[in-house]
Amino acid sequence: MHIDIFKVLPDLALKLVENSIEGIVITDANEVIQFVNEAFTQISGYSAEEAIGQTPRILKSGKHDKSFYEGMWASLIKDGAWKGEIWNKRKNGDIYPQRISIISIEDPSAPGNKYFASVISDLTQIKHDEEELRHRADHDVLTNLPNRYLFQDRITQAVNRAKRSNGKFAVLFIDIDDFKKINDGLGHDAGDMVLREIAMRLVQCGRDVDTVSRVGGDEFTFILEGVGAADITIVAARIIERMRQPFSFYGRDIHLTVSIGIAMFPENGKSAAEIMKNADMAMYHVKGFGKNKFFFFTPELNDRAIKTLQLETDLREGIKNREMIAYYQPKIDLLTGKVIGMEALARWPRFNGRPVCPDEFIPVAEHTGMIVDLDTVIFELACDFTRQVKKILNGNGKSFRVSVNLSPKNIEKKGFLSRLIKIVERVGLSPEDVEFEVTESVIVGNIASAKAILNSLNSDGFSISIDDFGTGYSSLSYLMQFPISSLKIDKSFIRNLSTEPKALTIAKAIVSMAHGIGVKTVAEGVETQDQLAYLRDMGCDQIQGYIFSRPLPEDEMADLITAGRVFEM
Ligand code: C2E
Ligand code: CA
Ligand code: CA
Repeated sequence: MHIDIFKVLPDLALKLVENSIEGIVITDANEVIQFVNEAFTQISGYSAEEAIGQTPRILKSGKHDKSFYEGMWASLIKDGAWKGEIWNKRKNGDIYPQRISIISIEDPSAPGNKYFASVISDLTQIKHDEEELRHRADHDVLTNLPNRYLFQDRITQAVNRAKRSNGKFAVLFIDIDDFKKINDGLGHDAGDMVLREIAMRLVQCGRDVDTVSRVGGDEFTFILEGVGAADITIVAARIIERMRQPFSFYGRDIHLTVSIGIAMFPENGKSAAEIMKNADMAMYHVKGFGKNKFFFFTPELNDRAIKTLQLETDLREGIKNREMIAYYQPKIDLLTGKVIGMEALARWPRFNGRPVCPDEFIPVAEHTGMIVDLDTVIFELACDFTRQVKKILNGNGKSFRVSVNLSPKNIEKKGFLSRLIKIVERVGLSPEDVEFEVTESVIVGNIASAKAILNSLNSDGFSISIDDFGTGYSSLSYLMQFPISSLKIDKSFIRNLSTEPKALTIAKAIVSMAHGIGVKTVAEGVETQDQLAYLRDMGCDQIQGYIFSRPLPEDEMADLITAGRVFEM
């Protein structure tokens, strides 16, 4: 059975209207407000007394033009209803979005007499939530800067704008130098603080219209529109300068630098992707040139990058296919002239191409991490060959050692020590037959872990030598904490011994200080009798260089040992 509920409960309709959570406004045909409910008062700020007798025009925000209201009226007249979103104004002046549904109703007792009833809901919160969501989707939580997605959007817009107006813009790719050290050394809180501060400083370096984004962990970008190279240079220099100011973390000063690559539209690319790639490439080259600088992209950089990439691919193949071999350069005892050891040096003859020299492929191997595999290959070859040399020496070569270069990347690698020991054992050598040459960067990179690793290498019986000494940190008192048996004076000093008094002074100082703490000295790159004389004078222990022999392939080195060649001084 069907009942007409509103006949049974005549007050129900009114109660519903009064208690509705949607705002309700009823006007007569002349738009004079006759009724508003409590929810309307909540939303608009107007009480029933204030609203009744007025027209809805008191709510007008001014955000819609005449044609908007004309459209609304047209559909009210034609269909008797209109629905949509509209911006209105509250009593306190706030403009807010609302959803509104208006119907017209005819008075049955007076045909032709119309009323308009509107049901409205406030969209402020919903819009706000939507906005917040959108913001979060394309902003970085930590710094509140636009993230990679928004940056991509902005750069695409910049390309379109520049194309339309024949304009130009630049993208700066900014990467913090050695950011990992801050995170590893001081913890992630310090890292986060630094990133937030960097974001702030970067924003201050530009104008309001420039977009600064955080596109990766420690990578930021800058879009500078409508400026020429001179202005870009000013901004880039300002960024470098601002970053040089120390960052303070709980009273502690943190120093850092940044590397910046710059690409310009339209000179350096016709699309957003190309501009970004080239700015990134320019940045990458700054890293290779000692960081803390900015470079503009040039086509030559591109050529070089393509070559490096090719080299990278070839090198990966080369290591996998075991194309690498080792050459050996004898080390001479300056007192006796005898060969007391040899240094293994990587060579890459390449099956289908020109040989590549280590100065070219070692940095690429370092950068890509392939050096770990490469060093292991050379280490295995060197151990194998040293076993043969020992056989030739037949008991006379007890103290004969092979020196192998170790990149810092190895030291950081887990399981590195046990791998070395396995190789030594398999070949039938003992750790006493092997010396590792490491540069000071190994130690400076991460003191605590370097100390632990070098100590365990040493207690297993391996010797450790500091390579290229004089070019890096070069603090002997510092190095005393490490179990070092010899220092190799860098060849740049040896080269200049007879021409530059300063080189001579430094070499002398190194030798006497090293002897003071019981460490032997080796001069590398010795080529002339002059140099030799100076070295003997200052009491250097060993030499290595073209004056006696270049690095040799296995068979030639074996011949030299078999012949028992000594250095006639
Ligand atoms: P390094 O360890 O300082 O090696 C000494 C370099 O000096 C070698 O260059 C050697 O050939 C060169 N040399 C020797 N005597 C003379 C001389 O009388 N005059 C001159 N001008 N040079 C001389 P090389 O073989 O080109 O190696 C360059 C660098 O590449 C090495 O410098 C080392 O840092 C790195 N390297 C070579 N092999 C390996 C390896 O297996 N692993 C790692 N991690 N690095 C390696
Ligand atoms: Ca070396
Ligand atoms: Ca060296």
